[in-house]
Amino acid sequence: MVFEGLVIHKVPYKERDLIIKLIMRNGLLGSFYIYGGQGGGKHHKPTIFELGSMVKIMIREQKMSRVEGQELMVAQESQRIWEPQSIRHDIQAFYLICLYFEVLQKFSMTFQLNSSDYEQPEHDGVFSVISNALFHLEDSLIKKQFVAHQHLMLFMVKLLFHLGIMPDTDSCSYCSVDLMESSGVTFLPANGQFACTQCVTAENEKGFLLRIKKSYQTRFQDYLDLSGTNFQEADKLIQYFCHQYQLKTFDLKSYGLLFR
Ligand SMILES: [Zn+2]
Repeated sequence: MVFEGLVIHKVPYKERDLIIKLIMRNGLLGSFYIYGGQGGGKHHKPTIFELGSMVKIMIREQKMSRVEGQELMVAQESQRIWEPQSIRHDIQAFYLICLYFEVLQKFSMTFQLNSSDYEQPEHDGVFSVISNALFHLEDSLIKKQFVAHQHLMLFMVKLLFHLGIMPDTDSCSYCSVDLMESSGVTFLPANGQFACTQCVTAENEKGFLLRIKKSYQTRFQDYLDLSGTNFQEADKLIQYFCHQYQLKTFDLKSYGLLFR
């Protein structure tokens, strides 16, 4: 059986082995044991399992494979399909992809041999969000156009959409007035909704609403079209995500590194 996905987690094991986690094309997480995966050895083989690399793994026929619900699969052959070159040389970009990968691990289901269906593309929207996010983040670094909060904003909006928890950006959650026609709107992260400032007295966040709508329409490759973003607004979406999944931002280690 052959699996394909992006490396989102890796742990060295024993002297030269590696246990990696992939977000696979079907949107599920897959765990693999890679003999000699750390590289090195007599021939100083480089590792192909950098974070963010797209790899293809063929697994060994396992004697144990009749056991249902087995999570860790042993790789027989593996091959790198794509690798981001610039991300690991930019500390902010690197923390950003670490945050993406941590976020993914908070909700993604794990593939289990013999009990999950690999061909079932139920969650492939999530894979398309993360693979596009990585590819165009790398592209922005090559073109020297990288702005961290711009990418984070796009990623969060597209992710929330695919998770089906995108806040309603059309009408006030109390009086149903069209938010675009209201002079002031405010975001209520606990409800995942916006309200007009007639109903709720709070800071006017109309700009934030407009940028959410814009992010929703902007393709990853057009990231430059999304202007006016900042970390505070991207943070509101992360806080909202955490609220939905009953997490605290300190559960996300790279959050602290990025939002210092
Ligand atoms: Zn209202």
